[in-house]
Amino acid sequence: MTNLKGKTAVVTGSTSGIGLAYARAFASAGANVVINGFGAPADIEKERSAIETDFKVKAAYSPADMTKHAEIAEMIALGEKTFGSVDVLVNNAGIQFVSPIEEFPIEKWDAIIAINLSSAFHAIRALMPQLKIRNWGRIINIASAHGLVASEHKAAYVAAKHGLIGLTKVVALETATTGITCNAICPGWVLTPLVQKQINDRAAQAKISVDQAKAELLSEKQPSKEFATPEQMGELAVFLCSDAASQIRGVAIPVDGGWTAQ
Ligand code: NAD
Repeated sequence: MTNLKGKTAVVTGSTSGIGLAYARAFASAGANVVINGFGAPADIEKERSAIETDFKVKAAYSPADMTKHAEIAEMIALGEKTFGSVDVLVNNAGIQFVSPIEEFPIEKWDAIIAINLSSAFHAIRALMPQLKIRNWGRIINIASAHGLVASEHKAAYVAAKHGLIGLTKVVALETATTGITCNAICPGWVLTPLVQKQINDRAAQAKISVDQAKAELLSEKQPSKEFATPEQMGELAVFLCSDAASQIRGVAIPVDGGWTAQ
């Protein structure tokens, strides 16, 4: 098992969904964690304290908004100040919006590019000097099957996720002779609030049941016809922090039930 005791992981967008699973996976491997994201303060505090109780590590919360570069730098600084270092950065925060391009709201395009792509640039930029001093680090960018292939009506999301994989490769090259690695994880469908909304919209539009919409969503793209799970993403992220993964650099790893094999 990978031992991350003494290390600190910052996971953006970790108040729900897959991000929370990454934070809990790092905590289970012994790391202190900084969680981030939106939600009701009581719910966030419940998740934060559960991490401390369940895994006997320390957990801090950063309210940084991933559309604001100064707040992103503050989030990295909070991790360094609270725990002495930030060693692992998971750029996970993401939003979705679905529309034909000619009707795509400009403010949705700007928000998706900011949260799903630019926030990773700002966080990596803020953290890199510290990682270089310690000559160890793991940067994991959460892209998507939509970072490798496209679907209609997802112009901003597909553009941002393809961009995030490009950013991953550049950072991997710039750190290739160091102890710092940068890789991307590309989930297929994982049942989280982000996907549940798409299922509900689909059921409402096609006047079908939510279960039927779920089955159709899977069979359209994901040959396994099963959702990948947040816990599977978490275990892969922890593996990427192991010594065994130290020469995995600049790759985009699909966890998509065969989606991008087609
Ligand atoms: P989710 O909606 O459950 O969680 C998103 C998280 O991001 C939440 O914690 C939310 O508070 C946070 N967030 C949103 N806007 C933010 C902002 N401006 N600043 C800070 N935090 C913000 O989504 P999820 O399904 O868990 O997705 C997590 C990541 O995985 C995203 O990048 C998403 O694109 C990617 N992904 C998800 C799937 C899937 O099937 N669920 C598939 C491929 C990729």
